[in-house]
Amino acid sequence: MLLSVIVPCYNEELVVRESYRRLTDVLRQTNMDYELIFINDGSKDQTFSILKELSQSDTAVKIINFARNFGHQCAVTAGINNCKGDLAVIIDSDLQDPPEVILDMLDIQKREEANVVYGVRKKRDGETWFKLITAKYFYRTLNKLSEVHFPVDTGDFRMIDRNIIDLFNSLHEKNKYIRGLISWMGYKQVPCYYDRKERFAGETHYPLKKMLKFALTGLLGFSKKPLKLASALGIVFVTLSILCAIVLLIIKLCNPEFVIGLGNIALLISFIGGLQFITIGIIGEYLANMFDEAKDRPEYIIKNKVNF
Ligand code: UDP
Ligand code: MG
Repeated sequence: MLLSVIVPCYNEELVVRESYRRLTDVLRQTNMDYELIFINDGSKDQTFSILKELSQSDTAVKIINFARNFGHQCAVTAGINNCKGDLAVIIDSDLQDPPEVILDMLDIQKREEANVVYGVRKKRDGETWFKLITAKYFYRTLNKLSEVHFPVDTGDFRMIDRNIIDLFNSLHEKNKYIRGLISWMGYKQVPCYYDRKERFAGETHYPLKKMLKFALTGLLGFSKKPLKLASALGIVFVTLSILCAIVLLIIKLCNPEFVIGLGNIALLISFIGGLQFITIGIIGEYLANMFDEAKDRPEYIIKNKVNF
């Protein structure tokens, strides 16, 4: 049995040595053959040279070196596409997901004969209250809007087996929301509860703007409900207008002096105009996704590979 560990890295020079050490410690305890695949996602710091140094003294360390920064989801995709394992683990490099949990995941996988063991965060240390609240409500809202059920409080930290890896490799959609895609596949998926730790060093690469973009990827990929918003709003506003017209007609009949202020009309026009722009924007987001699919560019470009 070969175990692949997939570790995306972007500007993690302060972290990768320690991740390597902790991961190797854990992997040796499994008594399994393993490969440790680090994806260097276009880092601008010393991440790649440190990884290269590690790969020279340990052939279990493999590197996929991207031509530029393609983003976390693309890095994980490259790892899954290139791993040879019967089982694979996706784990962040910053040690927020403790490598020791891999041992629990292995136990659960064996005991339950699971195809997926996904990490569920019981506790999250060192995150801002803003991130905690937005994450909590995002996962729950997505669940309501989507046709698939997603486990909540779950990131990409998980163990997947060869069935899932092969299935994943057969899908070619762009703008992947990996945790969603894997839930969507079905098979036997089992949770593994753990405490998410603080980052070992350095800073998050998911500021608010990227978090929103990622949330949008999940929403667009798994729900068609936003597209239907325009029709729903249309029906609501047509009904309201008819009611308003009737009320105004009655007022005018009772009081012939009555005039409607221009200000009111201007307000109404800008309000409806705003709603129209929002719904057009939503359609635009789906269209942009289809544009990406139509261009069919690769999701990532590999400059070189080490120890493969
Ligand atoms: N990462 C990546 N490419 C990116 C951004 C992040 O490969 O463009 C990696 C990063 O090195 C880390 C993981 O993805 O291993 C998660 O990123 P981060 O810790 O910044 O996100 P957070 O845990 O704060 O959501
Ligand atoms: Mg992190």
